[in-house]
Amino acid sequence: MSIMLHIKRVTSQVPSSIRGSLHNDSLRMRVLSLMAASLVGLLFAHSPSFANVPADDLVADDGRVLNYQPIPLARPDAAISYGGVLVDIEKPKKRPTIAEAFGASTATLTEMVAKETASRATSESVFALKSGETLSKIFDRAGFSRATGAQISRLFAKRVNVRRLQIGMAFTIAYDKDKAPIGLHFKDKENFDHYIVYDEAQSWFAFRTVRPEERYLVYASGVIDGTIYEAVDKQNVPYAALDEFVRVLGFSVDFQREIRKGDAFELLYERRIDKLTGEDLGSGTLHYAGLRLSGDAMSFFRYESDDNVVGWYDKDGQSAVRTLMRTPINGARMSSKYGMRRHPVTGYNAMHRGVDFAAPRGTPIIAAGSGVVEKASWFGNYGRYVRIRHTGRYSTAYAHMTRIAEGVTPGARVRQGQVIGYVGSTGRSTGAHLHYEVLVNNKQVNPLTVKLPSGESLEGPELVDFVEVVSRVETEVVSRGQVLFALSEQ
Ligand SMILES: [Zn+2]
Repeated sequence: MSIMLHIKRVTSQVPSSIRGSLHNDSLRMRVLSLMAASLVGLLFAHSPSFANVPADDLVADDGRVLNYQPIPLARPDAAISYGGVLVDIEKPKKRPTIAEAFGASTATLTEMVAKETASRATSESVFALKSGETLSKIFDRAGFSRATGAQISRLFAKRVNVRRLQIGMAFTIAYDKDKAPIGLHFKDKENFDHYIVYDEAQSWFAFRTVRPEERYLVYASGVIDGTIYEAVDKQNVPYAALDEFVRVLGFSVDFQREIRKGDAFELLYERRIDKLTGEDLGSGTLHYAGLRLSGDAMSFFRYESDDNVVGWYDKDGQSAVRTLMRTPINGARMSSKYGMRRHPVTGYNAMHRGVDFAAPRGTPIIAAGSGVVEKASWFGNYGRYVRIRHTGRYSTAYAHMTRIAEGVTPGARVRQGQVIGYVGSTGRSTGAHLHYEVLVNNKQVNPLTVKLPSGESLEGPELVDFVEVVSRVETEVVSRGQVLFALSEQ
């Protein structure tokens, strides 16, 4: 795996020492802009982020696939915001970064017009796409002639799916001193800025740039008092990272029965900040997930192989993935309100051959493992019921659903983690909950204790690479004065 890591070692010092210690201007600018970005980042750190994780790969105009760096920059050390000294920079570069391939955005359209054309803009206006409005209408509203509007629409359609324009999409238009439009700018979801500008020599032409961003790792930890979701959420962890945390640990942990007061979690995730606006782009990519249950510690590390397959492994390179998940429910929707205190959550016994997960009605239920649907219909006391046959001798069953998901019909293949239905209280049930059964050779067994085969482990050069990732995570965590769960109990 090729890892590109920029490490900035920052130690706390008085701000005035920064200038003296840096010997070139570009380096100094880099530190100062880093400080500024971090300051803004801190201000915005509390806005929860629900942004989608961007695709790891982006395709350039010429069809080349470009990769984001798989592991982000170093940390958002609070010291940076009140001054720090850069003592070490490493920049291994194996492939061009996106910013190098496309060039960087500017803060304003006017600056870009000045940079890329001989024209000069003297004013800018923003136009938002209204409901039912076409491109030609909005360009007309912005003051383009019909012919120019058509020309720009053609350039626009080459870059953006015109049928999927969002109401409210903002177009910035730049005007010259005669109030004639000479530039247009819009943003897409992938963090690209698109420009269509006028130059006397070239007429109208289009290009895109990358918004410069700061990527860094954030460490969060805490003690659980209630549910794991509430505990992690309290640390302002972006939803994408929380979701991944729960998914990864969901293979090994039954979140409703195995978590006790005083158990602790820790995780390392990534944040991205738009350096031009300070906006939190919050990808939330999770790199490390740790949980310490009474006595028992488990830690998993994200590893991306050379062919861009992401997997999760313990420190020895053993896969976190099990054939079945312990918690076959979108755990993030569970809350302590629905936990043991309010609703009797039943364990496995001779009379009750499954476990119950109490959760609000409508909470997505996911397939504990990949397999083929055997039954998906009303089934007596079980109410709406789905049973899936997995590889080998395993089946799983899910009961009392309010609704079975579309496409989940006998004979259909389902993937592990796919939503197969929604929590309800159909059949013989006293409240909204999922009744979950694991069957071995068609006999119910205790889902809490059944031994589940695990996925593959890493070997050879990949294992060597992976050990490197583990030690990097360890360094990040230790640098924050913490001890990694994975290493604390040996
Ligand atoms: Zn039950």
